[in-house]
Amino acid sequence: MKWYSTNGKAPLADLKKAVVKGLAEDKGLYMPSEIKKLPTEFFDTIDTLSFQEIAFRVASAFFGEDVPAEDLRAIVNDTLAFDCPVAKVEENIYALELFHGPTLAFKDVGARFMARLLRYFTKEEKQTLNVLVATSGDTGSAVANGFLGVEGIHVYVLFPKGKVSPIQECQFTTLGKNITALEIDGVFDDCQALVKNAFMDAELNAHMRLTSANSINVARFLPQSFYYFWGYAQMKRLGLADKLVVCVPSGNFGNICSALFAQQMGLPIHRFIAANNRNDVFYNYLQTGRYTPKASVQTLANAMDVGDPSNFARIYDLYKGDHATVCSHISGAVVTDEVIRETIRSCWKANGYLLDPHGACGYRAVKDGLKDGESAFFCETAHPAKFKDTVEGIIGNSVEIPARLAAFMKGKAEKTPLSKNYEDLKNYLMSRI
Ligand SMILES: *Cc1c(COP(=O)(O)O)cnc(C)c1O
Repeated sequence: MKWYSTNGKAPLADLKKAVVKGLAEDKGLYMPSEIKKLPTEFFDTIDTLSFQEIAFRVASAFFGEDVPAEDLRAIVNDTLAFDCPVAKVEENIYALELFHGPTLAFKDVGARFMARLLRYFTKEEKQTLNVLVATSGDTGSAVANGFLGVEGIHVYVLFPKGKVSPIQECQFTTLGKNITALEIDGVFDDCQALVKNAFMDAELNAHMRLTSANSINVARFLPQSFYYFWGYAQMKRLGLADKLVVCVPSGNFGNICSALFAQQMGLPIHRFIAANNRNDVFYNYLQTGRYTPKASVQTLANAMDVGDPSNFARIYDLYKGDHATVCSHISGAVVTDEVIRETIRSCWKANGYLLDPHGACGYRAVKDGLKDGESAFFCETAHPAKFKDTVEGIIGNSVEIPARLAAFMKGKAEKTPLSKNYEDLKNYLMSRI
């Protein structure tokens, strides 16, 4: 399978190039040259198949021409070492819990899959591959844990000193092995600028092989579609798949975009709702047909604080830029911090289901938008304990920290302090190998 760029000015790439490079030469995002429809028989029996089996069939449609079946199966099985259940919240509304992975957030599946596919493509190479990733919290932990212990790859996580919550920080500072945490005396933008500089530095790139684990990478973004096939299968078992609405709390729109791909492959989703926090660029596009990026604003659902969602380019390309077609598949919703608070409180009271601030946007959008005869699941993208202080403040009860999260917090933290000066990072990396 070949991969083209959404900007249309870069040569077609093969899968290895798309995965190792991430972004096309013209700064566009890679798209598969074909979205294969899965056979009717697959959808008829999907409710009898396991998560791993479903994911393997989906992965084969995108990666099967380039990765032998037994290798792909191993990558899929190794990635999905945890479940992704639906939980009933109320009549006809279910939560698809994407937070049962190692860092308790949905980015785990993409990060784990990408780590294994990258390893598959570089296993013959003798030189270590170095992943540089800047994080404001969640991405760093998902990438670090996804790559933990993967041979031949070393990960450097750059994070802003004092700007990442203690729970998030321990998820990448206590791992050891092939994961190194670099504490930058600056803000997130400084970390991002340092990583950019490093990728452009010819001398450094001659010294060590560098790559990114950006969320726009096809190996991180496409595997998220597994979630939707599995969510559908579970709703089908419950007899609730006839007019199924899927609601995705969205920031960079990678997750919902993978769900739209699933629909193009034949998954019978009735319609989609993109739930936003106050960052309403996509919502405004749906209303007006104009896409106007703006600076992001801070909200309680901070992993969705995005003012120029990178995967908009993919959605636009998927529907050939036609606004009416986009609107026929997706509707939008904007949920303010005040409504997030109110929703967490009322859902806890009425249903005994504890939402995190991101899932709260999803639940709210579904609850306000579900029509007669429809049933729905929304994605609960993070475990509420990851936002312990916020959630406890809202419900007035304490939130238990799951054992996996508590284990990180007991580990010994190791981090290397660096200034925000590029020369310091460069000297450090040059001295490493
Ligand atoms: C990253 C993230 C999102 C947003 O997902 P996108 O793919 O960027 O739209 C939502 N919730 C949580 C908890 C996240 O970490």
